[in-house]
Amino acid sequence: PAAGELVLDVQSIRKEFGGLVAVNDISFKLHAGQILGLIGPNGAGKSTTFNLVTGLLRLTSGKVVFCGETISGQRSREIARRGISRTFQHVRMIPDMTVLENVALGAHLRGGKGVVSAMTGLNRQEERQLMREAQRQLERVGMGASLHEQAGNLAMGPQRLMEIARALCSDPALLLLDEPAAGLRHKEKQALADVLRQLRSEGVSILLVEHDMDLVMDVCDHLVVMEFGTHLMEGTPAEVQQSPAVRAAYLGT
Ligand code: ADP
Ligand code: MG
Repeated sequence: PAAGELVLDVQSIRKEFGGLVAVNDISFKLHAGQILGLIGPNGAGKSTTFNLVTGLLRLTSGKVVFCGETISGQRSREIARRGISRTFQHVRMIPDMTVLENVALGAHLRGGKGVVSAMTGLNRQEERQLMREAQRQLERVGMGASLHEQAGNLAMGPQRLMEIARALCSDPALLLLDEPAAGLRHKEKQALADVLRQLRSEGVSILLVEHDMDLVMDVCDHLVVMEFGTHLMEGTPAEVQQSPAVRAAYLGT
C-alpha cells in the first residue's frame, strides 16, 4: 500500500469471554507507513485485540478490513499469508537453536507448514532459501553479527529483535508488536526505537502495544487508548499526554 492509504480498518470489534467483555466495540484505523500505538492499563484488551486482528481468536461481533479486504472470519494462516505478522508478549524461541535457525523455523511454520514437515519435508534448496530470508531480516534489524549465536544466550534486547526479524520474514505490510520493550535496558530500547523508525521509513506499517511511555511517545504517530475493553480516546502523542481522562485512567497523575 502507498503511503497514507488505509491499511487496517478495525470496525467495532467485540470479544466476550463468558460474561467478561474483553474488547468492547473498538474501532480504529491504521494508515500505510504509520506507527499506531495501542496503549492502556493491564487487562485493557490490547493483546485480545491483536488476537482478533490476526485471527487467533474469533470475534463476537464487528469486522476487520485489511487493505480493502475483509479478513475477520479467516484463519490465522490465511491472514498471515495476506501480510499481517506479529510478535507475542512473551518471547517464543527454541533456546538451543541458533538465532538464524529460530528465525527460519518460525518463518516456515508461519507459512502454514506443520512442525513435522518443517523437520522432514524441506529439500536443500528450500532450506537454503529459508535461511537466506532469515539472514536478510536479521541483518535488517541489526542482528547480522549474531546469526550463529545460541538464541538462549541472547540478552533481552537482541531476543526481541530476533522476534521482529522472524515476523518480518516474507515482508508483511503490517507488523503487530506486543510489548517489544518489556524488560529492555535503556540502550536496548533506543536500538528498538531506531529499528521501528527504519521499518516505518521502508513502508512497513506498525501496530504497537507498549507500556513504556517514553518509547511510545518517541516513535508513535498516533495513539489509541483503551481502558476496560473500551476506546477511551485517541490522538497524537501530545494530545494523549495532555488529556485529563488519560492521565486519570492510565498515567495516574
Ligand atoms: P492487555 O493485553 O491489555 O493487558 P488482555 O487482552 O490480555 O489485556 O486481556 C483483557 C481481558 O480479557 C482481561 O480481563 C483478561 O483476563 C481477559 N482475557 C484475555 N484472554 C482471555 C481468555 N482466553 N479467556 C478468558 N479471559 C481472557
Ligand atoms: Mg497484553
